[in-house]
Amino acid sequence: GMARSGLAAATALARQGPVPVINDSRSASALQLDLRDLHPYPYVDALGQDPLSFLDRVDMAVVSPGVPPTVPLFAAAKKAGVPVIAEIELGYLLSSAPIVAIGGTNGKTTTTALTGEIFQADGRDTYVLGNIGDPLSGSAAEVPEDGVIVAEIASLQLEFTDSFRPKSAVLLNVTEDHLDRFGSMERYVEVKAKMFANQNKTDYAVLNLDNPITAGLASQLPGRVLFFSRDHEVEDGAYLDEGKIVFRMDGLRQVICPAEELRIPGAHNFDNALAAVAVSMPLGVKPSAAAHALRSFAGVEHRIERVCERAGVLYINDSKATNPDSSIKAVEAMDRPTVLLLGGSNKNSDYTPLFR
Ligand code: ADP
Repeated sequence: GMARSGLAAATALARQGPVPVINDSRSASALQLDLRDLHPYPYVDALGQDPLSFLDRVDMAVVSPGVPPTVPLFAAAKKAGVPVIAEIELGYLLSSAPIVAIGGTNGKTTTTALTGEIFQADGRDTYVLGNIGDPLSGSAAEVPEDGVIVAEIASLQLEFTDSFRPKSAVLLNVTEDHLDRFGSMERYVEVKAKMFANQNKTDYAVLNLDNPITAGLASQLPGRVLFFSRDHEVEDGAYLDEGKIVFRMDGLRQVICPAEELRIPGAHNFDNALAAVAVSMPLGVKPSAAAHALRSFAGVEHRIERVCERAGVLYINDSKATNPDSSIKAVEAMDRPTVLLLGGSNKNSDYTPLFR
């Protein structure tokens, strides 16, 4: 797959010495590829070719998230003993800085951006990477050991990981999405939980106590589990206490700030804020730094973004809501009568809750 993450992976590898063979079912012109970053290094152009035709000449295959696991390459690579790894796995292998990973069906980009702001406010050398924009593999090797990588991790990126190990990771929620790719909710949840699979007790696994699917994972994770919750006080993690965002760990309770000081709208953004606090504070972030970031963060474009107000009508762009639950949360965040314009592709989701 030679879109953004494939190109980043090939370039990162080339910089380290290996000669990448670049391949995609599409040709360079169909892909509108800009190979400038690769040009200083030796590489083999196999765009548009059948990958089975050169499989015997590669040591390892790096797959982009867009490549479905049903393509013949995967079975053939297994048979030939060629390891197949995800682009984020490569990023992990190239990095020496701790990775803070953000996963979930909805709220990833918002929480990733906010978590990045928290580390930045704390004075850390912060790199915000992954599904949010810049691929993990592209910059991972440049991040200094004492910096921090905040990475948005989508389920499509986790299928071919086997050593990926974030220092701290949060799974925001799991609701119906991507059934066209994964076939069943069971498989979708299994893939999402892979983010935590290689952690140990010195790493932090943060779960949403209010979401039954994520809360249900707690007993099976190898890392140290913390929770975040809007509705319940938690022993270790972040919660709302009389309207205040509180973080507690090892018996130490720290008040961050009143939830009403958040600028991002809607109750779902309390989840995102609590998650960002719970995933960052265990790494020694100062409460005042977290509070500063929470108070100043204005959200990310296309996410319940105010476009303009004309003749008493407020126009909102929420085009990044791409599954039923995200649109439900957006409608719930509206504070006046709302006209909703919906469109997009069906990923075999059940729309009944949305229409209700
Ligand atoms: P993702 O990166 O997971 O797609 P975004 O942060 O881009 O998530 O948000 C996309 C849309 O999902 C938002 O515009 C909003 O409608 C909805 N959303 C955001 N956070 C949450 C959440 N915690 N739970 C449910 N829906 C959410």
